[in-house]
Amino acid sequence: MSKVDFQYIDDVKTIVCKQCSKSDKYGKCLAPPETKCVLETYLPQVTRALETAHGGKVDDYLLSLRTEVCSVCKEKTENGYCYTSDSYGCPLESFFRTVADAAVSLDAA
Ligand code: SF4
Ligand code: SF4
Repeated sequence: MSKVDFQYIDDVKTIVCKQCSKSDKYGKCLAPPETKCVLETYLPQVTRALETAHGGKVDDYLLSLRTEVCSVCKEKTENGYCYTSDSYGCPLESFFRTVADAAVSLDAA
């Protein structure tokens, strides 16, 4: 695992926010304070996932994100039912993809 710094996490957040439907065209969050932001909710797990896969490929980041977030995922039901076992798939997949793409683009910069 290679430690990533605060600036790296912040840069990932900036890229993700720019692509979020709840931000303006500059990436400024317009969501009301009571909104549950997936990025904020899982930020410790996303940070760990980025550290684990740092410098890897998109698939490495995707695997790492899923591994870290699944353990605490609030999208599961109380008895552990996960959406991946039905036709709807994981509701966090597109979020994972956005974060992974952001990390890889920063690695390449
Ligand atoms: S809801 Fe979360 S991801 Fe979306 S713009 Fe706001 S802080 Fe960023
Ligand atoms: S819904 Fe997605 S993030 Fe949550 S446990 Fe299932 S696969 Fe993991």
